[in-house]
Amino acid sequence: MRRCRTFRFLLSPTVRQRAALEHLVGLQCELYNAALEERRGAWRWEQRSVSYVEQCRTLTQLRGSRPEVLACGVTVCRGTLKRLDWAFAGFFRRCRAGQRPGFPRFRARSRWDSLQYEDRSGWRLDGSSRRLCLHGIGHIRVRLHRPVRGTPKAITVRREGRRWWVSIRSVDVPAEPRASTGRQVGIDLGVGVLVATSDGALHTNPRHGHRGAQRLAQAQRALASTQRGSQHRRRARERVGAAHRYIRDCRNDAAHQLSRRLVNDYDVIVHEHLAIPNLLRRPAPRPDGAGGYEHNGANAKQGLNRCIHDAGWGQLLAMISYKAESAGRVVIAVDPRNTSRTCAECGHISAGNRRGAVFECQACGHQAHADTNAARNILRAGRAQQHHAAQGRN
Ligand SMILES: [Zn+2]
Repeated sequence: MRRCRTFRFLLSPTVRQRAALEHLVGLQCELYNAALEERRGAWRWEQRSVSYVEQCRTLTQLRGSRPEVLACGVTVCRGTLKRLDWAFAGFFRRCRAGQRPGFPRFRARSRWDSLQYEDRSGWRLDGSSRRLCLHGIGHIRVRLHRPVRGTPKAITVRREGRRWWVSIRSVDVPAEPRASTGRQVGIDLGVGVLVATSDGALHTNPRHGHRGAQRLAQAQRALASTQRGSQHRRRARERVGAAHRYIRDCRNDAAHQLSRRLVNDYDVIVHEHLAIPNLLRRPAPRPDGAGGYEHNGANAKQGLNRCIHDAGWGQLLAMISYKAESAGRVVIAVDPRNTSRTCAECGHISAGNRRGAVFECQACGHQAHADTNAARNILRAGRAQQHHAAQGRN
């Protein structure tokens, strides 16, 4: 099996390299827009679609007319054309699905910030000197804070604010199996308590979104009061971007740490099957029969939606799943029905068992934190599922 991973490192370009990167990014944006124009024209005038391969072939014609576009190699140009190709693939897929997507759009230079190298030419990572060699740019220093495992296949160089990053995509990454701990865990995902385990541990939601939200709101207000095209506006926009990144980075860190801990400590991790798109759907409007609408709980729902986004359940589960896969751990998703209403001790099911964060069984009097109780039910469901699967094999 080809196990893929992405490794992300900070780049420290020199002043000259930075200028060269900026210039190259600008040219790639121009190339993207030109290639989009070609596809639009062909479609509008001849109802003909232009393929990625055709566009790659015409790249060589630029050698005569715009040699500077090819100065940093053809790989990065192909990467840009590939990106356009993905945009069109998404457009056609949504068309086929009966949706009405927007046609791929021209991109502003100020919003274009990455370079893609989709194969192994045009760049080289030198681990011993800690440099990333980019054709036409030079040897850029990389902060290799951990080794790149597997075989590097493709890279993306991206600007975020004033920083430059490289994402290295590797294939054939070797597994890192861990010694068995003989322990299994069920986890309940919540809004107040991010993760409750069947062992009784409660990992609270760090709520970085909440803390970062103030900073973000302030930056957005500042942005709204600036004039378009002004120097102030450019700086205000940078601050908004930085506030968004701050929230994202905090959330990522927390999810990485928690998923690492769970994968290190347990052989089997059982979680509830999440239908996140369902949870995020807006509540249906409730007409009152007199032309107006009754209150449908949309505001409360919105608050909950924000919390769900904030907790980033999907992201956390994805991290658990790939770390578990590499460590040789088992992850099981179970049907979440009744897990919060069932007593983990006696199995009695009643909606009255639960009052807020407290669980008290109406049949046997068992008391526990409601999320811990749910986590134990989830673990039991996971064990049953595993048992079933084992019997099916025999
Ligand atoms: Zn009970």
